Formats: sequence, structure tokens, C-alpha cells
Amino acid sequence: MSGVHVIWFKRDLRVHDHAALMAAAASGAPILPLYIFEPGYWALPEHSRRQFDFVKEALEELDAALKARGSGLVIRTGNAIDVLSEIHRRQGIAAIHAHEETGLQWTFDRDRAVGRWARNAGISLREQPQNGVQRALKSRDGWASHWEAFMRRPRMVAPETLLSAQVQAEDFPLPQDFGLGPDDCPQRQKGGRAAGVECLRSFLEVRGQAYQRQMSSPLTAADACSRLSPHLAFGTVSMREAWQAAQRAKEMHAREGNAEFAASIGSFISRLHWHCHFIQKLEDQTSIESRNLHPAYDGLRPAPEEDDPRLAAWIEGRTGFPFLDACMRSLKATGWLNFRMRAMTMAFAAHHLWLDWKLPAERLAGLFTDFEPGIHYPHAQMQSATTGINTPRIYNPVKQSRDQDPEGAFIRRWVPELSALPDEWLHAPWEAPASVRARAGIVLGQTYPMRMVDHMAAAEEARSRIFALRRNAEHAAEAEEIQARHGSRRSGIPFRGRQAAPKKRAPAPADAIQLSFDLGIIQERRAHAS
Ligand SMILES: Cc1cc2nc3c(=O)[nH]c(=O)nc-3n(C[C@H](O)[C@H](O)[C@H](O)COP(=O)(O)OP(=O)(O)OC[C@H]3O[C@@H](n4cnc5c(N)ncnc54)[C@H](O)[C@@H]3O)c2cc1C
Repeated sequence: MSGVHVIWFKRDLRVHDHAALMAAAASGAPILPLYIFEPGYWALPEHSRRQFDFVKEALEELDAALKARGSGLVIRTGNAIDVLSEIHRRQGIAAIHAHEETGLQWTFDRDRAVGRWARNAGISLREQPQNGVQRALKSRDGWASHWEAFMRRPRMVAPETLLSAQVQAEDFPLPQDFGLGPDDCPQRQKGGRAAGVECLRSFLEVRGQAYQRQMSSPLTAADACSRLSPHLAFGTVSMREAWQAAQRAKEMHAREGNAEFAASIGSFISRLHWHCHFIQKLEDQTSIESRNLHPAYDGLRPAPEEDDPRLAAWIEGRTGFPFLDACMRSLKATGWLNFRMRAMTMAFAAHHLWLDWKLPAERLAGLFTDFEPGIHYPHAQMQSATTGINTPRIYNPVKQSRDQDPEGAFIRRWVPELSALPDEWLHAPWEAPASVRARAGIVLGQTYPMRMVDHMAAAEEARSRIFALRRNAEHAAEAEEIQARHGSRRSGIPFRGRQAAPKKRAPAPADAIQLSFDLGIIQERRAHAS
């Protein structure tokens, strides 16, 4: 059938290593690169202004890269089927090319509806994987080798020219059109390919040296971690590009004798694998977004009301636990938090506050610029101990504070009302003698909240309720099935208390060698020139 070939961009906002773009260009037909701002999508509780702003910046760069090839991005606002129908009516669509999106139930339903519509309209819908997650997977056996084979395949360089379908561009909609009001996120990461490539380069060449040692403390993690997450979530850099560049960097550091850096990049590579390992879970079982993975936990915790004051205190950083509050306030201002602190915040809501995980997970998602449904919800359940296959871990917010922020620099930065408190009392101000608090100008319950719960007693209570369920014989039988369906065969994530093999410590090099090497990633200079 003659007509235009639509490339429907979703969470793949780049031109390089883009299978759908390559396929469309190879057709020889006029190309219509399309992004649809869908009101239903932006109305979902997980979506927020910071993600919208990141996407908009990424789209502006994508548009420039496409224009430089002859066919700029066409922006439309509306329901996907309405938008596609209108294009079909005016231009005639021969084929729609897209990536296989693993998203929330909403996008899953939308994609199925678009599939039905395309079939009825006689349009070929061609979806392609973009990151090693497999559609309609029968078994997890052999998954890791399939993933690695996908990562090893050569990256695709974007076509030099695209034949334009000559469709009029429309202005970007405003965030307010979707009810997305102002967002207080001054340190949000910038969207777009240039920022993504720079993140990867600076991490692999310089910042990642002590990644393994520095990823756990929020004091060091913001610089020592790659910060690639929003770029992977919205596809400004492809997973394969990141993986291949990391492999090259690891070999380079090893060759140069920088064992610490090479080991750090090795850890990073494992996490790229985890990225897809977790997304595969949601791909295989969309209900992970809304229902306990293991049904034994159904009804265990009460679901909070939307306006539950405990939920508000937790998400706004007013729990009375200084380190936890510092994490939440920092997340609000930056749109990012390191893994351990994400785990601690989620675990606090589920265990100490004993709240059903769904609403807290939704609220957290909105604060993450990098919200990735397939990572977020499986982790929210894992930290809430509702998967049945992971050993429950209840983080102690005071111990984490002492371990990860011993001198209180992070707390003082984000909870300045406590800054005059001496270090020894900063982690648990309720334990400070009244005279010490008075000298620091702190009145608990007035200048800073009283702690919401006795965290030791709450953790003990949560532990005993959860382990009572886990001792049940039926729990184990169901857990075996969940493990067979979703469990990692090779990711290094321990299963049910099994310990991962102890890691050998690499000796630190005498001098950190700063390398400059070819990332192997196309930096899209023309996008900036145009
Ligand atoms: C409750 C909870 C919710 C989370 N929600 C998200 C989310 O919405 N989006 C998201 O990208 N990550 C999420 N994570 C995983 C992890 O915290 C982030 O990927 C990481 O902190 C992002 O920072 P980075 O890019 O600097 O990571 P790095 O440490 O530099 O890792 C590189 C990449 O590996 C992947 N990765 C790292 N850690 C994990 C992990 N534990 N599981 C799966 N993939 C991983 C990410 O894609 C990350 O960008 C969540 C973790 C928890 C505990």
C-alpha cells in the first residue's frame, strides 16, 4: 500500500541505534516522525511536570536531529487513535513503526487499541524491541544470553537523509494544558541526547572511578553514579550504546592498570542488565503495577486515603527522621535519589508506616525524573516485601543516617532547621537532652516534627507480621512459581536469602588515570548547528 511511513516516538527519543527509524527509512517512502502528547498519559498519577519538561527538551533536540536529515518532528496533541486517524485521512498511512513499549497498564491498553485500529484500517504496525526486553516471553531460561546477544549487535547509525512527508508541524503544548502546574525542581537533569551522552562520557572517563564505594551515600552518589537513568527511561541514549561504551571503558581502564575503575564499570554493566531484568517482569505481568506479586500479602496493609497526613508527611520530608526527610527534600529539588535511599524511603512507608505500597509508589514516581514503570513497581514491591521471593529488608533510618551521613552534611544541607544541632544528636534529635535542643533553637513538634513512629518498635512489628506469613507452607509453593516466572537466573541478585558470592576488593591504583577514548556514540553535532 502506498502512503507515508509514520515513526511513532514514545520512550525512544533519539535518531541513532533506532531500529524503527532505520526500518522506516529503508522503505523508501516519505517519512513522518511523530510524537503525540496524550492527555490521558499525562493525567496518570505517576506522571509529572519534571518528566514533561525533560521530555520536551529531548523532543527539541530530536526535532533538530530529524530536521538536519530532512524530515522534522511532527508534534500532535490528543488521543493516539484520533491523531493517527486524522493523519491517515489526510496523508494515507502505509505503516507505523514504533518500539515495543513496556509501560503502565494505560500504555499497554493504548498500544493494543492502536494495534486493533491499525489492523482494521489495513495499516501495518511494526513494533521492534529497543533494549533486550522480550515480548511474549515463554520462559526466563536463557534470558540473559539473549539479552547479551542483543547488546553485542552493532549499533545502528541514523540515516543521513530522510524523505519528508511534508506535514505541517504544530507548536508544543504547554504543561498547563495537561494540568501540570509549576514544579519546584531547580536541579532537575536536563533532557536531550547531548546531556545523555555527556553523562555517559563523564561517568565512564572520570566520575565512575569510585562508583562501587560511593554509590550508597547520598553525599557522594549524585556525582559517582552515572545519572543515566532519565536518559535510558526516555531513550535519548540507547541501552546498547551505554552497554557497548561501558564495555570499551572497562577494557581501557583494565589495560591502563586502573583496577578500581574497571571494577566500578563492571558493577555499572551489571546494573544495565538489571534495568532490563526488572522491566521484563512488568512486560510479563502488567498487574505488578497494581497488585501484590504474591497474593499472601493481599489485605496485609491498609491502603491509605489520598489525603492521609502520614503520606503527606512522608513525601514532603516531615517525618521527624532527619536523614529520611533530607532524602525526600533532596529528591523534590533534584528529581533523583540513589538506589539505597530510594529503597529506604519506600521501605519506611511500607514497614514503619505500614501503608499499602501502591499510593506511596505513585507519589514517589512523580518525583522521579527517570520514572520507569518496569523498574519502579517491581522495586516498590520488593522493598515492601510483597514479592514473596526476596528477603524482606527493613532499613533503619537512623542507622542509615549514621552510616551514610556520619557528619550530617547531607542533613544540614536539606534540613537546615536542624543545622545547629551537634553531630552526635543530628541523626535522632528526640534523643538529645532538652538543653542541647534548646541551645540549637529546636522545639520538636514546632521548629521540626516529632518523629512519626518509634522506628524500632514499628520495624519489629512489621517483621513479625511478614515472617508469620512467610512461614506458611502455601507461601513457599506460590513463591516457587513466582521465582520460576520472574526470578533472575544470573543477575547476581540473591534469591530468598541466598548470599551472593563475596566480591574481591580490587586494589586502588596509585594514580587515577584520566582517559579520553572514543565512546563509540554519535554525538549528533549537527543537531546543535541547525
Ligand atoms: C523504590 C525504587 C524505585 C525505583 N524507581 C526507579 C525508576 O522509576 N526509574 C529508574 O530508572 N530506576 C529506578 N530505581 C532503580 C535505581 O534506584 C535507579 O535506576 C538509579 O538510582 C538511577 O541512578 P543512576 O542512573 O545514576 O544509576 P547507576 O547506578 O549509574 O546505574 C546505571 C543504570 O542501571 C540501571 N539500574 C541501576 N540500579 C538499578 C536497579 N536496582 N534496578 C534496575 N535497574 C537499575 C538504571 O537504568 C541506571 O540508570 C528504583 C529503585 C527503588 C528502590
